[in-house]
Amino acid sequence: MSTASSAPFPGVPLIPYGHGHVRGLDAAELGTHGMEMDSLVRLGLPTVPGLTIPASRAGDLTDTAVARGAVELLSALASRRVGQSERPMLIRLVASAPVPAAGLPPMVAGLGLCLDTAPALCAAIGRAEVLYETWSATVRSIAEGALGVPADDIDGVVLDNPDPAKRLHALLEMCERLGSRPYPDDPAEQVALAATAKLARWRSPRGRRARAAQSLPADTPIALHLQALLIGPWARSGHGSATSRDPDSGAFAPSGVFHRGVRRNESPSGPGEPVTRLPGGADLLRAALATLEHHFNAVAHVGFELRDGELALLSAAPYDHPSPAAAVRLAVDLVAADTMDRATAVLSVAPQQVQALLHPQLRLRGGEPLLVRGLAASPGAASGRITLSSGDAVERAADGVPAILVMTETTPADVPGLLAADAVVTTGGGLASHAAVVARGAGRPAVCGASALRVDPVTGRVGADGQELREGDVISVDGRTGEVYAGAVQVRPAAPSAELDVLLGWADDHRRLGVRANADTAADAASAVRLGAEGIGLCRTEHQFLGARLPLVRRVIMAEDADDEREALVALADAQREDFRDLLRAVGDRPLTVRLLDAPMHEFLPHDGDGDDDDWQAARAAALREANPMLGVRGVRLAVVRPGLYPAQVGALFAAWIDVAAEGVRPALEVMIPLVSIPRELALAATDVAAVATDVARRTGVDIPYRIGTMVETPRAALLAGQLAAHAEFLSFGTNDLTQLTYGFSRDDVESRLLATYVERGLLPSSPFAELDGEGVGALLAIAIRRARAARPDITIGVCGEHGGDPASIALLEPLGLDYISCSPRRVPVARLAAAQARLNAAATQGEDAMASMISPEGLS
Ligand code: PEP
Ligand code: MG
Repeated sequence: MSTASSAPFPGVPLIPYGHGHVRGLDAAELGTHGMEMDSLVRLGLPTVPGLTIPASRAGDLTDTAVARGAVELLSALASRRVGQSERPMLIRLVASAPVPAAGLPPMVAGLGLCLDTAPALCAAIGRAEVLYETWSATVRSIAEGALGVPADDIDGVVLDNPDPAKRLHALLEMCERLGSRPYPDDPAEQVALAATAKLARWRSPRGRRARAAQSLPADTPIALHLQALLIGPWARSGHGSATSRDPDSGAFAPSGVFHRGVRRNESPSGPGEPVTRLPGGADLLRAALATLEHHFNAVAHVGFELRDGELALLSAAPYDHPSPAAAVRLAVDLVAADTMDRATAVLSVAPQQVQALLHPQLRLRGGEPLLVRGLAASPGAASGRITLSSGDAVERAADGVPAILVMTETTPADVPGLLAADAVVTTGGGLASHAAVVARGAGRPAVCGASALRVDPVTGRVGADGQELREGDVISVDGRTGEVYAGAVQVRPAAPSAELDVLLGWADDHRRLGVRANADTAADAASAVRLGAEGIGLCRTEHQFLGARLPLVRRVIMAEDADDEREALVALADAQREDFRDLLRAVGDRPLTVRLLDAPMHEFLPHDGDGDDDDWQAARAAALREANPMLGVRGVRLAVVRPGLYPAQVGALFAAWIDVAAEGVRPALEVMIPLVSIPRELALAATDVAAVATDVARRTGVDIPYRIGTMVETPRAALLAGQLAAHAEFLSFGTNDLTQLTYGFSRDDVESRLLATYVERGLLPSSPFAELDGEGVGALLAIAIRRARAARPDITIGVCGEHGGDPASIALLEPLGLDYISCSPRRVPVARLAAAQARLNAAATQGEDAMASMISPEGLS
């Protein structure tokens, strides 16, 4: 330190790496690089010998006398001298700004070289061309930046001389001929000129433009740093970068590449070699990365050099983009090492990273031909053959051929194909459309609303953006990004791990919200429970009547007289009893919310071209067709016009409950009435359900322990939640319909037709079907919760719309005082983590504030 600040220029501070903090200097003077090196030295890690000329004095280095002092100090720090042949050294000049900045002047690496000493250095390295490459790059940058040699002439020389030694000689000759002075042999003079070139570059119009583009002040200063470049034999020397974790397994294992030879610029060409082949220094690299992980509490990334097997760090920072596996495993390892507490570990992993671990992903390498981009409707990825009908998808799957179902939209009749396919792409429909909801529930990747895609099932042609494909061609679907690629892309399988289970266990300890799943079948329920669901928050009973079972619901809807209806209901109830039994067994003693039929009529009526429709069916379907089916005879409304419907369903449910109770399984039954907007609708349905329970008790002697509740899916239901609570032991917000009805946006159409433009033009931040609209829909939720709890304090309240699995929406929902969220099975782990993070992030008092801020105007509360 003494040498640093005093001799030989008392006025010019030369700060060796590691001494900045002693001087009380911060990033404003030391630059980001000086700060980084300071902390590496303080951690006792091996670094390149070097020093900083602080930002406020950087211009002093253009003075040769000051540069000479700096070179002297550097020699002392490195215990080597420029020009020495046994322990040779070169000098590198680097710049850094007080904040991370793009457009910094590139480093200059070959300072200290001259024709007299070059042969000895070439011998030490063993590869002359490596040295000449570095040297000619250095001469070039000084010639252009400090000696005034015209850039065009320099470019000409570089192009004409691919051989690095010849290029060097031509550049030196050009400096002599066209430069303000010849290129000097003296290392100090070279350093002073290099500093001049760097500062000129930083002050140039190009440098100013770069700062403006990053909103950095035009007068942002730079610190300059001199580093000792230790020379060693080519085969045992190199430079590279490494991160502390293996990206696939997430285990602690340095991964990265290194390049043999002398580091010439920031981005070396060629693929390099894996750091596992490092010639010496591997143990030191491992130890340094381990220290840094504990220092940063993050995956560490370093730049390093190796000289004759000796490792020195050039940079170190937390790694911005750790792989999901690395993020999870690191958090668990740091807690095990007592470096991090569990709450911090829970906060350190992004819910999206958990989602990535739980779903297959495309291994994109860049350059894959994008066919179309749509809505990321269901996560996961798959490659397979374009298949244009549900039937063909079933056949392909039976033959073991991966199929991607590509349709304009899907209906319940397409469910067998949807389940058989490896992924689905629709040109219409949104995030809450039929294809999206079924795909999410079944864990199939889906891209919906890919409106630029043209599909012609008659000719078998599929095309977008000038690309023409045919049925049977291979495409690859990324349900996480909404992208579809032409051709096969390798798929990385899902990689859940023991560490993820541990982390999610800690998340469970920190969350307040319960997490349930939306599951319609025993298989879905079982997988939801395996993923940590505490129960089933929504069983959409209409989904039990998809595919071959569809006629059972169709018959009920289309029944023309009471006899017809009765017969249809018996058949429906028989089928349901069996399904319910399997579902109840899979749920075990957990809560199970069974939503009675909510069949949007158009999804169940026969369509033109359905093979089995006869004249009568067609006429009846035409008579029942509605202009706005989503606003029509659905939910509880169908039960009002078909009064036998809900009693038949509940009869089947209660009978199934008695069956499984005899086996010792006692699920906590919740019967839920959909699409209520008038409290008396709920009262009517509740009375019907109670009558069935009484009848069952009379016939079997079993009192079914069930709770009755309703979905809150219409704005009116939200506003009248207090009155609904008089008839309901629980409420569950159907935020899909509530969003649709609050905005008046059709949930099936608006995303592909309108929302992208709205987002693009700044009218909406994102799709309100994906991320809850806090101001509008959220305000309705807040009002409803307050009014319902005022009327019935012990009422249970949840959310079972798609927002229940979206981390950003969960953060909005947490402060509202809900009891649980319910989402598709594969999103359960994401919801567990997001709920814990929302809780940890929310201060204890924020809940009330958030609720209050959502309820405006005041009169509404
Ligand atoms: C909802 O509307 O949010 C809901 C869960 O019901 P569905 O999506 O079945 O209409
Ligand atoms: Mg709904």
